[in-house]
Amino acid sequence: MAKAFFIDTTVCTACRGCQVACKQWKGLPAEKTVNRGSFQNPEDLSFTTLKLVRMSEAEIENKLHWLFFPDQCRHCIEPPCLEAAGEPKAIYKDKATGAVIYTKVTKDLDADAIIDSCPYNIPRKGPDGSLAKCDMCIDRVSNGKLPACVQTCPTGAMNFGDYKEMRMWAQARLAEVRRRFP
Ligand code: SF4
Ligand code: SF4
Ligand code: SF4
Repeated sequence: MAKAFFIDTTVCTACRGCQVACKQWKGLPAEKTVNRGSFQNPEDLSFTTLKLVRMSEAEIENKLHWLFFPDQCRHCIEPPCLEAAGEPKAIYKDKATGAVIYTKVTKDLDADAIIDSCPYNIPRKGPDGSLAKCDMCIDRVSNGKLPACVQTCPTGAMNFGDYKEMRMWAQARLAEVRRRFP
């Protein structure tokens, strides 16, 4: 059955545990950063940062709000990037989970066309020209484990499971949140 993430931003505290867990599981290096006058760190997704907690400040009804969003590939049901690639050895959809997987063969494709096709600005090009992004922790999920970012989240903001169950859960949470914040 297709799997899905449900990210409940209302309970995300921006602890960045998911961001670090992703790097740990994938064995990806930390990035050199500088203080840009905000908590955003690193600045953006990259070839070695597949998960990023985005932080922004917004004025809503005369009050300043600090908003957090853990960003990663959405594993689209009909992925525009897969269509743009047109090469099943480079980008394919795992039948069992629905995960959209990039392989090293992406280096033989037009990387910019694939990057441009993603409505969420997710894929990133590496030094060898290949593309990288979140793979749904397919190695863990295929072995009955949760994705590393979900496993580590202490607040329940990151959730993962069968698509229908996640969708029902998201709708129930939305109804609850709307009662407090119509
Ligand atoms: Fe938010 Fe959970 Fe990630 Fe912490 S681990 S930043 S609470 S989604
Ligand atoms: Fe990283 Fe795995 Fe979470 Fe994707 S599912 S963001 S690869 S930890
Ligand atoms: Fe969808 Fe973009 Fe992820 Fe491709 S890279 S599956 S288009 S979110």
